[in-house]
Amino acid sequence: MKHIVIVGGGYAGINTLEHLKKRFGNRLGQDIRMTLIDKQPYHLRKVLLFRRISDKDFNLHIPLTSYIGEGISFVQGEVEEIKEREQAIVVTRDGMKRENISYDQLVLAMGSSSRHQEDQGGIALETSKAADLIRLRIEEGIKSGKSIHIAIVGAGISGIETAAEIGGWLKDAKVTLVNADRRLLSSAPKKVSAHMEEELTKVGVNVIHGVKVNQYDDQAKTLYYSDGTTETVDVCIWTTGLKSNVLSASREKGRIMVDESYHVKGMKNVYSIGDCALVTDVKTGRIDQMTCKEAVYQSGKLSRIMVKDMTGSGKRLTHKSIPVEFYCVSLGQNKALVWMKKGKYSMVLRNRLALFIRKSTWDSASLVKK
Ligand SMILES: Cc1cc2nc3c(=O)[nH]c(=O)nc-3n(C[C@H](O)[C@H](O)[C@H](O)COP(=O)(O)OP(=O)(O)OC[C@H]3O[C@@H](n4cnc5c(N)ncnc54)[C@H](O)[C@@H]3O)c2cc1C
Repeated sequence: MKHIVIVGGGYAGINTLEHLKKRFGNRLGQDIRMTLIDKQPYHLRKVLLFRRISDKDFNLHIPLTSYIGEGISFVQGEVEEIKEREQAIVVTRDGMKRENISYDQLVLAMGSSSRHQEDQGGIALETSKAADLIRLRIEEGIKSGKSIHIAIVGAGISGIETAAEIGGWLKDAKVTLVNADRRLLSSAPKKVSAHMEEELTKVGVNVIHGVKVNQYDDQAKTLYYSDGTTETVDVCIWTTGLKSNVLSASREKGRIMVDESYHVKGMKNVYSIGDCALVTDVKTGRIDQMTCKEAVYQSGKLSRIMVKDMTGSGKRLTHKSIPVEFYCVSLGQNKALVWMKKGKYSMVLRNRLALFIRKSTWDSASLVKK
């Protein structure tokens, strides 16, 4: 029986599993079996982490066992090593028990972690525990009776969404969003940046551009900017980007090197997609970003490539970037902005349709059924 192993139950992993489930159908459990491995027992809805700050009961965890079915099993454990010659991975379970799991095809979808370093102070928004800690710090600040100042460092989508959420939630707090760039989301047109800043201003968020933060001193509650100035801040949240989880696979620019069909360079029967992989459209030279939408998009093509490699039939498939440029940005509980561009045509949505698209993309990425 052929064995497919998927490491990582993030967006890339669960969507690959789902596509393969559909493609193999009733062969699963007959001549093919699959194993999903993750160090956590749940799929984390990472793109919604900001919501857990404003709503302590918001559930971000979906049990990974809910994605399995006939011929599929879930193993909770941390993959430590790939033994390429033996076509096996070494998994640590319960923090100590090491076990070899062999594979015929292996998918590395270990995603990414925050680039923030602990000695920079503050809290990086990357887990539900971090979101809970941020909320706790905010509540402590509010209890002290003073007006509270919250800084969000890093103004990518995650920073913008977090600032908008907190601004809408805490009417009396001072909220600052620190953007190293000259305008918000500079890869989008200027009018989109302006719309976003306008919405942030409406909920009391002050956006500062063209400056970085070097450090936050948790004791002195002081933020140190790159231009030498300092500011008193009660809670500092970092949303400054991601670094790939790469294991022992060969890497370039910190990400696992794959060819145009997601095969890990120098390894046989090993594939990689999502945040951990450096996926390039060879025709245009465009490198995929570390986003949920790209991870999900890659998973569809990967499943077709894996079936083709296993059966030896079908035409050669290669990665192509998503043909539409697309941003869906949450701007508080009841607002969202969607920007789409294909060729010369572009469109901005800020109405109920934008809210509908926001919910649909969140749900479909995590395979949440209505
Ligand atoms: C706060 C925040 C907000 C974001 N907002 C957006 C957004 O609005 N839009 C957007 O498109 N993207 C957003 N992103 C980026 C998006 O979350 C990632 O691009 C996406 O999660 C990538 O999916 P993935 O499956 O590759 O990796 P991940 O979601 O990181 O999943 C990787 C999985 O692998 C597991 N794992 C890692 N190492 C091992 C190991 N050694 N052994 C076993 N298991 C392992 C992890 O536990 C995890 O479950 C955001 C990210 C963050 C942190």
